[in-house]
This record gives sequence, structure tokens and C-alpha cells, in this order.
Amino acid sequence: MTSLTIYGGVNEIGGNKILLKDRDTQVFLDFGKSFSRRARYFEEFLNPRTANGIVDFLTMDLVPDISGVYRDDLMVMAGRKPQKPEIDAVLLTHAHSDHADYISFLHEDIPIYMGSACHLILRALAERTQRTLEREILDFKPRPYSVKDVPIKRKINEFRTGDKFKIGSLEVEPIHVDHSVPGAYGFIIYTSEGPIAYTGDFRLHGTHSKMTYDFIEKAKEVKPVALITEGTRIADPERKESEKLVYEQSSKTVVESDNIVFADFNFKDVDRLRTFFNIAKETGRKFVVKINDAYFLKYLSKDKHLDVPNIDDENIIIYLPKRGTGTYSDSDYKGKDKEFLDLHNTWTAEQIASRPNKVLCAIGFYSFTALIDMKVKPGARYIHSASEPYNEEQELSLERIDAWIDHFGMSKFQSHCSGHARGKDLLEAVSEIEAKTLYPIHTIHPDMYKKVSKNVILVQEGKSYKI
Ligand SMILES: [Zn+2]
Ligand SMILES: [Zn+2]
Repeated sequence: MTSLTIYGGVNEIGGNKILLKDRDTQVFLDFGKSFSRRARYFEEFLNPRTANGIVDFLTMDLVPDISGVYRDDLMVMAGRKPQKPEIDAVLLTHAHSDHADYISFLHEDIPIYMGSACHLILRALAERTQRTLEREILDFKPRPYSVKDVPIKRKINEFRTGDKFKIGSLEVEPIHVDHSVPGAYGFIIYTSEGPIAYTGDFRLHGTHSKMTYDFIEKAKEVKPVALITEGTRIADPERKESEKLVYEQSSKTVVESDNIVFADFNFKDVDRLRTFFNIAKETGRKFVVKINDAYFLKYLSKDKHLDVPNIDDENIIIYLPKRGTGTYSDSDYKGKDKEFLDLHNTWTAEQIASRPNKVLCAIGFYSFTALIDMKVKPGARYIHSASEPYNEEQELSLERIDAWIDHFGMSKFQSHCSGHARGKDLLEAVSEIEAKTLYPIHTIHPDMYKKVSKNVILVQEGKSYKI
């Protein structure tokens, strides 16, 4: 009567796509993009062709070939018959691409449930980046399209922690968890065969570990028949890490400098954003952000819980990059970015460079051409506040970062706190919840859970498991 079929996130980190069937009800838990799978076949100059709709994605197994799921326009392009969707909902745990992005392909009649902060982040992302076939989560334009076409909006249902809602024969209870993006949730889903718990991505060593403990406690209380858990770092060696440590180390790096300091971090990580914003304020420096990231401030500041400054905050400066003629002329800046130009707090690279000890630049590697315009003086500092490289591509990027740092005589600092739970925390959480069966996903070491669970299912992709 109840079954789980996992189409993504099996022996890989991310790309979660979990189908839960209960009587006549079918829901997907996340519908993410698998970066590793995509990178197996594609790279910078070889991409799935938009002109071929979903066909390249289906053929290369980037999305599962199942019926009654995908958009009508994409089915027609693939020479198939459009079908009324058989899926009743998608429950999205959080806004990271490896959980959210391939919702882009799904039929518009399938409602998407997400946390309200998750919705804000997806809105900011949609506004700051161009529409592509792989990034049409909140709305989409049926292909082929012309610029004038109005996008079709998906049905979005927002929830907050503690809400409960029904989807067919299921009752769903989202509970907040701590992760490196706000608006992250785990789900307790009450099925005909008993409760199922799904962790999404989570950690216990972050600033808001209490939220994850709320989830663990609730999951334990309902005695789940199945627990679907992430296991990203289950095999990683232990190291000391916390947001407080990032704050202390980075604060010291900034205090000791009378030159420009750069901080390279993921802006969706609001804890990290707050860490560096506070360091800037406390050290009498302006916090300099890219136009692209200003969109995050604009949206995230709407949620009072997140305590994020808006773009007009007196401590914020928006970095104005050279475009078009290279003369910062008004006509060089087009479209939505224009709204930031009229603010009194937009500075050019030259303006930033004239106050080296009065700025903390939240400008990362992808904006390093700014260093050329800033004529950065030796001794400037660069704080890399992201994970160490874990694939070849990232190692190459890191080599390039080092080359820039060398070229300008800068010094580099590393300080980071991961969004994923440490190995021992994962094992503790799982043994605490004590579910009847365990489905480890989002990991390449699912077998390591055998230490704490007698009934670990080493999932096979696309195989249905009866609950
Ligand atoms: Zn993930
Ligand atoms: Zn995540």
C-alpha cells in the first residue's frame, strides 16, 4: 500500500528525487539536480541542448524516464503524448540546487510545498539570474518561447515549522532543521503504514542546532517505520568547526589588517552573511556586496526572523562593475540591475580602493577582475570561507585563486563551517530516532550506517521498496 522509490541521491551527494506512494497518493520529496551525474557527461562547452527540450536530460539519465510527471511542452517536443500529472505534490526541503532545480521540468499542475524563507531565496535567485531550462522552479515559459511570452506560474504552497497539512491519504508535518541555507526542513509524513521521516540536509554543529534537535525529537516520538537520512560527511575525518570559530578567525584576520580584505562565501548561507556583516560593522568597515548578491539582501531582509540588512542599510555598499563602455555610464547598465544604480551607496572599484582599511569586500573569485581596477596593494587579505575543493574542477579553480593572490601579493586565509552534520552527529541522530528501517541517501557511504542500524536499506536507484 505504501512504497518508496528513489530516483536520485543514490550513492551520490545531492540530486534527491524520492517518490512516496501511499494508496492513490503520490508525492516527490525534493526533485533536485545531480551535479556529479551531469558532470559525468557534460562540461563548460558541452551542455544538454535547450533546443532539444527534456530529451537530452532523459537520454543521459539526468532525470528519470517516468510518465505523468513532466511539462506538456517538453513532452510534445520529445514526440510524446502530454499526460495529466499523476503526482499530487512535491515537498521541497530547501532551496539548494541539488534538491530544487529539476522541479523546472515538472508539470505546472503539481503543487510545490516549501518553507517561506525557501520561497524568498528562490525568488531572489530567479531575479538575479537568467532563465534557463534547468532553472525554472517558480515559473516557466513553454518551449519554444519568445521574449514576450508570459511565464506560467507554478502553484506554490508555503509552510512554516509546526504546520500540518494533508495531501490525499498523507498528512505532512514539516519541522525546521539547521543547514547552510535558511528555510531548511525535514518532514514527518504520516502514511497508511505509519510515519516516515525525511531529514533533508542538516547539521548539529551550526548556530541553530536547536532546530535540528526539534526535528530529531519529533521523529523519535512518532516511532517512524522508515527514516530517509542524508549522509554527506559520514566518512569525513573530525575537525573543529563552528560558525563562532569562523567569526573569531575572520574577525582577527580583518582587525590585524589596514588594507582591503575580501571574503569569499556563499551568500545563501545567511549565518555566514551575518558573520561577515557583523565583522565589518565592528571593525568600522563598509560591507561591500556585488549587484547579484544585493538581490538576496532585498528578498531576505523581508523576513524579520532572518535579521538580514536591506540594500539601503548604512553599512552596505554595492560594488558597481564596469560594463558596456567601461566608463560607468548609466546606459551601460540594463534591466533589473538598474534599480541599484540610483542608490546613494553604489561604489566603483576605484572608490572602494581609495578607502582600503574602511571596506570588507564580500566579493569572491568570480569578481576577481575587480582587483585589476582596484590596483590592489600587496598585503591585502582574502578569506576563503567555503569548503575545501572536492573535485577536479574546484581544485583547478583553487589553483587560479592562488595565482591571482600571488600576482597581487595578497595573503590567503581559510575559515569555514560546513552545512552538513559531522559523521558522529549523523550516527547519533539516526540511533536516537531509532526508525524501523533506514534509507541512507545523499551519500557515497550508505553502508557506514550499519554501525547504528540493524535494518539499513542499501538503496538501488529506481527500485520500489514496500514500507
Ligand atoms: Zn543537498
Ligand atoms: Zn543543501
